Amino acid sequence: MLKDRVDEAKKLQGFIQIMDRDRAGKPCKLNVPGHEGRRYTVILRRQKGKLLAECLHGEASSNWPCEGSIQSVCYHCLAAIIATAADSGKKVTFFEEYKDAKNYSNFGGVVCLVEGWKSHKQLFMVVK
Ligand SMILES: [Zn+2]
Repeated sequence: MLKDRVDEAKKLQGFIQIMDRDRAGKPCKLNVPGHEGRRYTVILRRQKGKLLAECLHGEASSNWPCEGSIQSVCYHCLAAIIATAADSGKKVTFFEEYKDAKNYSNFGGVVCLVEGWKSHKQLFMVVK
């Protein structure tokens, strides 16, 4: 369930380190804690209207994808996205369905597609 992953992701706020930023100054590589003291590296790639999120085991670049990220946009990725938004004073709300995101954005905010780098699973977020 997306809601469960978002709840997990929210608990990690304050424990996430920004490791690198893209040319626009936005975080593109973040170190995120997980269960049992594990650490994950989340890589965010921005395309027009789309955010691709990859999650890898370990603090340095490995090629070992997080198990959760193979099936969905894992909560480490959601946590990194929340932290990235907070970095520029914004908030994100996640939705499974585009229509729900679109409806929510009627109250302000921009809809953006989020896609898992490995899973190709998609969800939507409203940033405001
Ligand atoms: Zn992950």
